[in-house]
Amino acid sequence: MAAPPEDLKAELLELRHKIEHHSTLYYRHDAPEIPDQEYDQLFDRLLEIEKAWPELITPDSPSQRVGSEPLSGFTQITHEIPMLSLDKVTDEEALQKFEKRIHKRFDSDKAIEYSCEPKIDGVAVSLLYENGVLTRAATRGDGTTGEDITHNVRTIADIPLRLKGKQIPKVLEVRGEIYMSKSGFARMNAQAEKAGEKVFANPRNAAAGTIRQLDSRITARRPLTMYCYSYGLVAGGDLPDTLSAVFDRFDDWGLPVNPQRKTCVGVESSYAYCLDLLARRNELDYEIDGVVIKVNHFDLQERLGMNARTPRWAMAYKFPAEEVSTVLKEVEFQVGRTGTITPVARLEPVFVGGVTVSNATLHNMDEIQRLGIKVGDAVIIRRAGDVIPKIVSVIADRRPKDAKPIVPPATCPICDSEIEHIEDEVLMRCTGGLFCSAQRTQSIIHFASRGAMDIDGLGSKLIKQLVDKQILTSVADIYSLQREPLLALERMGEKSVDNLLAAIENSKQVSLPRLLFALGIREVGEATAQSLASHFGTLKAIIDSSEDELVSIPDIGSIVAHHIRAFFDEKHNLDVTAALLKAGVCPAETKPVKADELPFAGQTFVVTGTLESMGRSEAREKLQKLGTKVAGSVSAKTTCVVAGPGAGSKLTKAESLGVKVIDESEFLSLLEQHDK
Ligand code: NAD
Repeated sequence: MAAPPEDLKAELLELRHKIEHHSTLYYRHDAPEIPDQEYDQLFDRLLEIEKAWPELITPDSPSQRVGSEPLSGFTQITHEIPMLSLDKVTDEEALQKFEKRIHKRFDSDKAIEYSCEPKIDGVAVSLLYENGVLTRAATRGDGTTGEDITHNVRTIADIPLRLKGKQIPKVLEVRGEIYMSKSGFARMNAQAEKAGEKVFANPRNAAAGTIRQLDSRITARRPLTMYCYSYGLVAGGDLPDTLSAVFDRFDDWGLPVNPQRKTCVGVESSYAYCLDLLARRNELDYEIDGVVIKVNHFDLQERLGMNARTPRWAMAYKFPAEEVSTVLKEVEFQVGRTGTITPVARLEPVFVGGVTVSNATLHNMDEIQRLGIKVGDAVIIRRAGDVIPKIVSVIADRRPKDAKPIVPPATCPICDSEIEHIEDEVLMRCTGGLFCSAQRTQSIIHFASRGAMDIDGLGSKLIKQLVDKQILTSVADIYSLQREPLLALERMGEKSVDNLLAAIENSKQVSLPRLLFALGIREVGEATAQSLASHFGTLKAIIDSSEDELVSIPDIGSIVAHHIRAFFDEKHNLDVTAALLKAGVCPAETKPVKADELPFAGQTFVVTGTLESMGRSEAREKLQKLGTKVAGSVSAKTTCVVAGPGAGSKLTKAESLGVKVIDESEFLSLLEQHDK
C-alpha cells in the first residue's frame, strides 16, 4: 500500500498542534480565541485525514482523547467509567446514516427509539451520591481524570445535596451539564461592568470559569444551574431499562432534568424534533448548540459500544453557528436623527445565525477601546435570533501588519460641523442640526415611518434621493411634492408615484400622538407622545405649555420636559410645524383627560404574537390611549399579556408568573367596552 504523502503528514502535525493550542485555551483557561465553528472545522479535517490514513493515528492524537488535562490547583478525580464526547452531524442525510449504521450492526430494520434532548452549551460534570447524599462532584477533564469541584457544586441551589424518594441506589453517579442562564449571565455581566470587573464573553465561558473557582464564595454569588442527562457508576440498586424512564426517576428524586426532552421513534421524528427546537432556540433562557439524540434502551446502547472518544449510540445534531469569524474592512461614522455619531463596522460578508451579515454596530469609542479593535482585524461576530449582530472579540494573533487604528472624526463626517462630546466624551454628536443632511434625512425617515405618519412608499432610499436633490429640505416639504420631479427619479413609475401621493394625502388625517412622535422631539417616544396628547388635547396647548406643567404629567421628567420646551422654542421647528398644519395635516383633537382619570391608569400591558385585526403598534397605541403603559417584556408587575398566535417566551413567562393572559377576541371586546 502507498505511504501517506509528506505534505499530508505535515498538515496533520500542524492541525494537531493548532487543536491542542485551542483546546488548552478553551478547556483549561475558559478563554477561547476562535469560534467553535472554526475549531470544529480543524477537528473535522483531522478526522478526515486520519480516516484516509489510519496508520497516521497516534495515541496522543486529539481524535483519541476527550477535553484536556485537569488544572493543577484542584484535587484530581478518576472517572471509573470514562466521560465521553459526542459525534456530530449537521444535516438530515448524515443523521439518517447514523441510523443506517445502527441497523447494519443489528442486522435489522426495526424502528429505534431515541431520547432527544437539547445540547446545552455549558460544562459537563459528574455528581456522586452515596446513600442519597452528594459526596463528590467533578469536571469531565480529559474524560478519565477530572477536577474535584465539590465545594463549588454544593453552592448551586438546583443541585440537591440529598436525594429524596424511594429506590435510590447506594452509589449513584449522575452526569449532566452545568450552565448559566442567558438572563443570569446578562445580569452578572452588567453588575461586573458596573463594578469595573472582568466581563465574560459568553455564558459557557462564564459557567466554566465559575465552576472552577478555588473560592466557593465567588461561585455561590453566580447564577449557575444544571440539567442531568445520564449516569455513570451505579451500585447497590437498579435503574430502569431506558434513558427516558431514568429521567423520570431522576425527576422524582429531585434531580433537575430538562422539560424539553422527548422520546422519538425513528430518525425522522428525531429530526423533526431538531427542527422544532431550532425554531424555538432563542426562546429558551439558556444557550444550546444542537440536539443530542441517544438510543433510548440501555441494552441496545451496550450492544453498540463506543469508539475511542465517542459512544456509537448517540449523535449530536449541531445547529448553525451563532458565532463566526470575519474581517473588519472599514469603520464608518454614521450620523443619526438627533446628530449622534455612531461607528458602524463594515465586515467581510459572512453567514451567521441563518443570515448574511456585512455590518455591525460598534456603539461608541468606548466599545472600540474595550475590544481593542483595528481596521483589518479578524473578529468574532455573534448573531442570535433577531438580535442585531455584534462584534464579540478580536482574534489577536491574526492581526495583519498593516492594521489601522480607528480614529474618531474631528468634525461631522457629513456636514463638517463641530462635534459635541457628551457623557464623558463617549458619545459624539454633530452640532449641525437640520443643516446636516444626514440629520435631515434621518428625521424625514422617522417622520414617514410606520409608528409615526405611516406614509407607505416613502422609504429610506427614496428619502435619501429626495434630500440629495434638495427636493426635500424639511418634513413639511413632503406635502408639496409634485408628480413630475418624482417621475424623474430612479424606479418611480406612474403607479408608484400615484400611490405615494395618495399615501401622503391620507397621512394628513392623523392622531395627535402620532404627529407628536413623528416630529422627532428628543426623548419623546410613542408612550410620551400619548401622555402629552391625553393631557393637553391639542397641539397648540402643547406648544404653549410651560416646563412646570409638562413635569406635572406622570412619566415626564425634567429632562424630557426640557427637550419638549427646547424643541418648540426653536423657530425652525415652529415654522415646520406651522407649515405642516398649513399644508393640511390635521391632528385629531381630543378632550384633555388627566392621566390618572384614564380607565387603565397604572396598569402595564404586554402585546406578543401576531394579531389578525391590527398591527402590534396599533394595539399599543389603543392601549396607551386608555392610560396603560405598554412594556416590551413580562415581569411580575405586568397586569395583562395580549397573546396572539405565535406568542413564544413572553407567553411562557406570563404563565409561569401567573400573569393574566388574554387572546385577540378578549382584547377586542376590552377595547370595545372602553370605546364608548
Ligand atoms: P461536544 O460539544 O462535542 O459534546 C459532548 C458534550 O456535550 C458533553 O461532554 C456534554 O458536556 C455536552 N452535552 C450537553 N447536553 C448534553 C446532553 N443532553 N447529553 C449529552 N451531552 C450533552 O463536547 P466536546 O467533546 O467538549 O467538544 C468540543 C466542543 O467544544 C465543540 O463544540 C467545540 O467547538 C468546542 N471547543 C471549542 C474550542 C474553541 O477554541 N472555540 C476549543 C475546544 C473545543
